[in-house]
Amino acid sequence: MLLIRGRPMAGESLSSFRQRIWMRNGHTLFPVYHPELRRTDPDLQRQPAVMDIVSRRVGMAVGDVEALSLWSHPLLPGLAGATDRRMPRWVVLLQYARAGVGSGSVFCPLCLMEGPEPYFRTAWRLSASTACPHHRLQLLDRCPTCALPAWPYAAATASGFFQRQLELDQCPRCRFRLRESVSGAETSANVMACARSVSDGGLPRGLGPDAVPSLREGFDALLGVINLALRRRSRRKVGVQEPFRLAVDALDAEGVGNRSFDRINVIHRRLLIDAAWPLMAEWPHRFLNFASNCGVSAVDFSEDRHGLPSWFLGVVDEELGQPGRMITAADVDSAVEVLESGGLPVHAEAVGRMLGSRYAATVRERFAKRETATSSELAAFADGLLRYIEAGPANRSTSRQVRARDVAAVAATILTAMPVESVLRMGRSEIERLAMREHRISALDLCIKPVLAAAFECADRLWRVRSGGAETEPFFVPHRGISPNLRGPSQALRKAMEGLDDRLPRRPWVFFEAAG
Ligand SMILES: [Zn+2]
Ligand SMILES: [Zn+2]
Repeated sequence: MLLIRGRPMAGESLSSFRQRIWMRNGHTLFPVYHPELRRTDPDLQRQPAVMDIVSRRVGMAVGDVEALSLWSHPLLPGLAGATDRRMPRWVVLLQYARAGVGSGSVFCPLCLMEGPEPYFRTAWRLSASTACPHHRLQLLDRCPTCALPAWPYAAATASGFFQRQLELDQCPRCRFRLRESVSGAETSANVMACARSVSDGGLPRGLGPDAVPSLREGFDALLGVINLALRRRSRRKVGVQEPFRLAVDALDAEGVGNRSFDRINVIHRRLLIDAAWPLMAEWPHRFLNFASNCGVSAVDFSEDRHGLPSWFLGVVDEELGQPGRMITAADVDSAVEVLESGGLPVHAEAVGRMLGSRYAATVRERFAKRETATSSELAAFADGLLRYIEAGPANRSTSRQVRARDVAAVAATILTAMPVESVLRMGRSEIERLAMREHRISALDLCIKPVLAAAFECADRLWRVRSGGAETEPFFVPHRGISPNLRGPSQALRKAMEGLDDRLPRRPWVFFEAAG
């Protein structure tokens, strides 16, 4: 039992109260009671054994001590609900990193100035606290001279700093008094409204529907909207639109990736609250307006669904749809038609954008690559190759022969199942030996062997003219010193495959095992 007692100040946090009473009794840093660890967050303390010791030491009822912990704040589930092992989403947890990069509490310099001695508020540990509702100031989160995070960071990490008694607002590293910090005036009504309800725990008007059952539900919905700017999937969508543009630009500028709201600094948190808060008013009109303006759909909330209140999810599912589940194959076909008729590129991304979701199974299915052509596709392809030889100006026989040579290369590649680069280095007799040797009757043989024969027949004249009739090798490189031309064969392949299913890659290997 401590000799000198005291009562907690209005809104005071458990860690602040423990430390103040301990110092009044002539000690420096408050003790850590078994089974507490030094790095246990003193404001999130909930072990009955520890609460019991603290209440006996300070001479207060256990219930009164518990009321000072963060668990008593309406944004948290309460001590009874604290069996959930997951950490509360609204608390800025103490992060123990190299000095200066962790996190402590935010604070208002003027609040620290009030009363007989400085103390820290429970609400300052919450991520939604970014302004002081009493002094209309933006809250700070670290020592302005040395950047050490504020109380209770040092209490949990650097007890060595407390070699002597310090004021609670005194930076244990550089001894600066935090209450002498200079902070900017808070000018945003949105941030102020948020700060007021975090501070007094009261349910604000205009945060969701008129009958929001609790402060926590209102704030959980708010977090759902804020997360649109933090999640990779939706950040680009909301970042091009007011009101999120400013916040997303600031996050980008600091290279903040997929971090959660409680892990970003107070400046960024303030910008996000300022953007998201007004979207909750006139529920759900402003929110839906915003969502449709930037193309936000139900999928964008999928990561957060478990934490969102039912009235919020109801609007999301009904109004922003679950297009991923409802897109039919016919929808996909008509979207493809629209794109094709507009001369636009047809791919999963473009179709998904039109239909509201590229993750829909029907969209994925439509654009999943196939590996093997069917026999009718093979037949169409063979016709395409023969047509390609005849395509183009008829009076220029050389270009017809060049096309025939390219078609021969494609046909040979498919029949020999060798890379086109290798085929182009072979002579005609070698290709015929490899391509024609097998006498099994397959769809491939039936379709492509005649194409190869016809192409050879047609191109051979070109080759004989050029080489003066002598049988020299190789076949595809008639000009001395010219390396094999890959562009010709690949154009022949592409042209011959025109009109075939676009899920079929434009590659020779799709025909290797073409079958019914
Ligand atoms: Zn203040
Ligand atoms: Zn400092």
